[in-house]
Amino acid sequence: MFWPHRNQLPRVPKARTQVPKVLLAALLIAAFCDPGGRASNGAAMVIAEQGRARCTIVTGGGAPDAVRFAATELQRYLKRISGAEIPIQSAGKVPAGPCIFVDDSEPLRALKLRPAGLAKDALAIKTAAGHLILLGGDDSATQFAVYTFLEKYLGVRWLWPGQLGEVVPRSRSVAVGAIDEIQQPDFKWRNRGPGGALWGAAEGPTEMRARERLLGVSAAHQAEVALWEKRNKWGGMKIYGGHALGEIFPPEKYARSHPEYYALVGGKRAVPGPDYDYKHAGQVCTTNPEVVEVTIQWVGRFLDAHPDYDGVHVTMNDSAGFCECERCRALDSGELVKRAGIDAEETKKTAARNTVITDRIFTFVNQVAEGVQKTHPGKYVVSMAYSRYITPPRNVRLHPFVIPQYCLWSAYRHASPAWRQEHEQVAAGWAQAARRAGIYEYYINGSWPGLHRLVVPYLSASIKQLKRTGFDLYQTQSGDDFAINGINYYVAGKLLWDTSLDERAILDDFYEKGFGKAAPAIRRYHQRLERAWTAATADGNDVACQSLRATRLPELFTPELLRQCRRDLRQAEQLAGDPLVRKRVEFLGQGLRYTELTVAAVEAARKLETAGVRLFPRKQALEDFRQAQRREDLGKLLAAALDAWQQRDRFVEQLKDDYVVAYFWVKYNEVTREFNPLPQLKEMSR
Ligand SMILES: [Zn+2]
Repeated sequence: MFWPHRNQLPRVPKARTQVPKVLLAALLIAAFCDPGGRASNGAAMVIAEQGRARCTIVTGGGAPDAVRFAATELQRYLKRISGAEIPIQSAGKVPAGPCIFVDDSEPLRALKLRPAGLAKDALAIKTAAGHLILLGGDDSATQFAVYTFLEKYLGVRWLWPGQLGEVVPRSRSVAVGAIDEIQQPDFKWRNRGPGGALWGAAEGPTEMRARERLLGVSAAHQAEVALWEKRNKWGGMKIYGGHALGEIFPPEKYARSHPEYYALVGGKRAVPGPDYDYKHAGQVCTTNPEVVEVTIQWVGRFLDAHPDYDGVHVTMNDSAGFCECERCRALDSGELVKRAGIDAEETKKTAARNTVITDRIFTFVNQVAEGVQKTHPGKYVVSMAYSRYITPPRNVRLHPFVIPQYCLWSAYRHASPAWRQEHEQVAAGWAQAARRAGIYEYYINGSWPGLHRLVVPYLSASIKQLKRTGFDLYQTQSGDDFAINGINYYVAGKLLWDTSLDERAILDDFYEKGFGKAAPAIRRYHQRLERAWTAATADGNDVACQSLRATRLPELFTPELLRQCRRDLRQAEQLAGDPLVRKRVEFLGQGLRYTELTVAAVEAARKLETAGVRLFPRKQALEDFRQAQRREDLGKLLAAALDAWQQRDRFVEQLKDDYVVAYFWVKYNEVTREFNPLPQLKEMSR
């Protein structure tokens, strides 16, 4: 394999030295208070002075939970910043003195200060008549107004979930200058998925959070991750689901009564059997009018039960088994799936031999959307653009309330210009075919159990390019590997809100706020890993942990690279000074430890394979081992491999609630790929 020399690698552009705007705003705190507590030097409002409250937070009497929560968050952070407990008043007359209005309350209206014409997803931060107004077009935008204020004007940051990731500046006096700002997000849906197929059914239809809980990830961990997302303004529109057929056509309801609803495959109706996981196979005949009607009814019932949702997925199930009936095939364009590799991983192999079925799938989605409009006007019907229907339609025009969600797998491969072009071309086709289009990205996937994959420049360029192309919905498959790849999520969240931001400025701010004097060492650490990934994938090949045999992990994470990474983190610890910063460096160090342990485990297992024991499939491993058992070198190799994988396993188990590793994806990879040989190593050692 050819590996470019270090000096041929593309260099990461030099970071801007200019202080980003967000920092400047934060530096203004406390500059506005005179000793008497009155606003001076242009301060529009004093919030706290010498640790004492100088204002009241005001919400309406019947404020919904989301707004009350935003008010308490504001109160909590103002206290941590200044020591002052700002009272919250939720009913009655306008309190005397300055107010922070969080909510569209009666007092705010009485004062005639409500910003006019605020769009649903817009937020306003505004000082007027000695008050501060933090208001959104809806409740969740009001929450975003509070978080934006804390972040942009008071310098608070949420680098990753949990307290260690929180940056809260201290200043006993807090005041703000005149502010008059309205923001609206560039992407209307900013979702850390997954919404697609996942690891069988926890209980009927699959849901990752439920599955995580079954794996022992605590509810508190999940709540903290959700809160981190909210504080970083992930959210926006509400779209339900992914692969949907398990829910719309459960075999317990239709297998006996209506086998004709299911796909005709090889002359037989492919009715899901006992091993059905509700997400894979179980396809339906999309040209059967009753199938269309059942889907319309199901979407209607969902929207009746969840009127706050903007759209519902009716995506076909994952993997193959699409209908071969004449009526269905008559709608196909006749194109062959020939763009190898643009297909999402699960269906890649089967898709490559097949015809494109985009036109038939979106004929169905169109019909569902038309039906849904009659009872639920304005609601969207969504389908992934995926597998054999990943390329845009040839003959069908999309209904204005159909959203195709193009599965872009993935900008992490954009060190290769060929991949980037391919993705951009398909994306442009979908943007043109639809009035509104979305993206499904893969910041993590089944073949990548959350090792380092730092690709901020590619994700950033892709998000900006997609916005220019016309996309305004973005979901990415995500994990909780914040000590490892957290920076990808952090920067993406900021850019999805505002694509005009410079990702290098976001990074500057992240390093400076989170790591102070250690910032240069942490930046160097990240850039080193980023360059290594770029070099390893520039020829278009993924590194992947699809299988132990084929993974290029040891070539990406060379001993030299891992040593240098350790050195960066040691230097960061020495530079840190502040104990809090040292803890943050340790947190990143745990992330590096996971990658080190994984690479060591892969190498130990490969030695066993080189000695003649094939570890996959499992049966083969046991057979090979029996035959070679008498060889004395084998016992040592087996013990070493077992020890390495067990060490990794213990490490992962210990940290499953700590935002370090993507626990769900580690387990998913273990079960669905031929990568982690621990079960067979244990069996051989008995
Ligand atoms: Zn059919």
